[in-house]
Amino acid sequence: MAEPFPLEPSLWAATAPAAAPTPALRESVTADVCIVGAGYAGLSTALHLAERGIKAVVLEAKEPGFGGSGRNGGQVIPGLKFDPDELETMFGKDRGPRLVDFVGHTADVVWDLIDRHKMDVPNTRNGWIQSAISSAAVGPIESRAAQWQKRGAPVQVLDRMETAQHVGHSQYVASWIDRRGGVVQPLAYARGLARAALAAGAAVHGNTPATGLERQGGKWTVHTAQGATVTADRVVLATNGYTGDLWPHLRQTIIAANSFQVATKPLSDNVRKSILPGGQSTSDSRRIGLYYRLDHTGRFLLGGRGTMREPRQAEDWSHIETMMERMFPQLKGAGIDFRWGGRVALTRDHLPHLHEPAPGLLIDIGCMGRGVALQSALGRAMAAYIASGDPLALPLPLGKVSPLPFHGLNKLYFQAFVTWYRFLDRRDAAAA
Ligand SMILES: Cc1cc2nc3c(=O)[nH]c(=O)nc-3n(C[C@H](O)[C@H](O)[C@H](O)COP(=O)(O)OP(=O)(O)OC[C@H]3O[C@@H](n4cnc5c(N)ncnc54)[C@H](O)[C@@H]3O)c2cc1C
Repeated sequence: MAEPFPLEPSLWAATAPAAAPTPALRESVTADVCIVGAGYAGLSTALHLAERGIKAVVLEAKEPGFGGSGRNGGQVIPGLKFDPDELETMFGKDRGPRLVDFVGHTADVVWDLIDRHKMDVPNTRNGWIQSAISSAAVGPIESRAAQWQKRGAPVQVLDRMETAQHVGHSQYVASWIDRRGGVVQPLAYARGLARAALAAGAAVHGNTPATGLERQGGKWTVHTAQGATVTADRVVLATNGYTGDLWPHLRQTIIAANSFQVATKPLSDNVRKSILPGGQSTSDSRRIGLYYRLDHTGRFLLGGRGTMREPRQAEDWSHIETMMERMFPQLKGAGIDFRWGGRVALTRDHLPHLHEPAPGLLIDIGCMGRGVALQSALGRAMAAYIASGDPLALPLPLGKVSPLPFHGLNKLYFQAFVTWYRFLDRRDAAAA
């Protein structure tokens, strides 16, 4: 696997509060649970385990928030890609409604954690807007909003004019606003989770890549690059888009696709007020979606699909910058301060996956670009499962680790789909 793009060029690394010390593991230790990966999933699991008096040790190859959790758009989005009715049909009359209830409350988990642990996280909870670029996307958006409304969620459909007032340009046909959502400074939130986990009694070790897993006499031993080990009753793998070869074939169950972002220089008051004046964030209905928002420093940031390889030069972000100026001509000449990217774990069925391929080994992988809320809540659910042993504590069934056939080729197919989808998106937008 190629060395991941570093965290430092990001807006979030430049503006997050300092991280708590998480020194590398130097001596072998024992724990109840060893967690690999210090993103939202791993840290939330550790925090919720520690709150239950279960000793958790987190091993992180780089630093807490190094993965998707420190690089994302900071859009806190409840739900999954599938609508509530679809989820109920897919998961049946017992698990379906429970899953819908779970995903409907994932954003609450984020704000509950921020408030309860008094985290230093710039955040606004004014809603998330999903916008339709073509009339074909309006029906699905209206149906999604109606399904959530039926379940008591604070959501609303916005017509073309209302959408333009909320977003700041008139290129969308309609949208829906989900007031459960909002925005956070994502790296500040990851660092806040790490501090909360440490304060609750978990151990978190940065610069400690896990290099091997071994099971002997009912215990797991996790080996690390420095030679120290963690011996534990259970292991949780929370490595998501940064998954390597710790467990056979796990990496081949996802496509780790790059998402790239840019952030402008701080905008003048006038320009700032002309874009998303209500402080919401937006993702649009494009097949290759764009997502954007302002941040607490008055910068505009926009993200979209990146190249399959790691970025090398500024031109790798030029398609995103072009889209930005096309949507908001007032941003021409605003200047770009930050360009960065990270890996999103995509699954074939567009669902997050939970696995337990061996006794005491729990795996959470595949976030489909919605992990801020989802992984925070899944961490809490995984801690409840570990504490109780009750599989119903998990919102999703434990599935088999099934590698995508011809995984290497899947990346090529994926690139071809991206090109084709971009063409369709341009066609739909032109017809709107
Ligand atoms: C550019 C971008 C924009 C996004 N925008 C949004 C958004 O706006 N809203 C949203 O909800 N979601 C968004 N996402 C998705 C979201 O960021 C992820 O779903 C989420 O952060 C995943 O959290 P995680 O804890 O599962 O994994 P990660 O945060 O990716 O953490 C995995 C960690 O595992 C570590 N690791 C891997 N292997 C090892 C090993 N062998 N030993 C030790 N450590 C290891 C990695 O270093 C990494 O820190 C975005 C993602 C990206 C990349």
